[in-house]
Amino acid sequence: MSVIIAIDGPAAAGKGTLARRVAAELGFDYLDTGLIYRAVGMKVDRAGFDPADPARAGEAARDLQPEDLQAGDLRGDDAAQAASKVAVIPEVRAALLDFQRRFAACPPGGKGAVLDGRDIGTVVCPVAPIKLYVTASAETRAQRRLLELQGKGVATSFDRVLAEMRERDERDSSRAVAPLKPADDAHILDTSQMDADAAFDAAIAFIRAKL
Ligand code: C5P
Repeated sequence: MSVIIAIDGPAAAGKGTLARRVAAELGFDYLDTGLIYRAVGMKVDRAGFDPADPARAGEAARDLQPEDLQAGDLRGDDAAQAASKVAVIPEVRAALLDFQRRFAACPPGGKGAVLDGRDIGTVVCPVAPIKLYVTASAETRAQRRLLELQGKGVATSFDRVLAEMRERDERDSSRAVAPLKPADDAHILDTSQMDADAAFDAAIAFIRAKL
């Protein structure tokens, strides 16, 4: 049986970079589950509807095609906000659950799967033997996100990025279905004082001890 590694945490805590590196290191397949929610949100938005509309969003989730994950605008903040709006809708989450579980159970390479998101350790793969909850203070996460946006030439400010981050944290943590929270058996990794290399070293040491 292949191994499942669940990595959850709030926006910009560094879990995507970490999950990708862990998967590459171990030869496992990686699934960025946030990208799926982003694709659904932008599909509804591009069709001219409100991502918060349950009927439209549910339909978009059920009809999601692999090529929807290749859309060019999925990494931006508009997609992030649209994602967190469709993510509160139970029928959207239900439609995406099967896809994620299938990937986790049968990753293409057959060795193991690393999934990152908000509810992997709590809902999608509650029996995953290895669970990490990667977090950092809101200020640290906003600062990292600001540098990333500035690197892309986006004009914004720390206060604005922090406000958007808090808005999304609040929506993700307070929703009724699969809210953002650490699984009881998750190992908490606070990266506030760590760079990407230090976070990777800490994570891989924990994972190797469990494998
Ligand atoms: O991780 P990322 O920032 O790409 O996720 C975008 C949004 O998708 C999150 O803010 C959250 O609302 C939603 N999401 C989720 N469950 C997941 C992954 C993402 O609700 N497993």
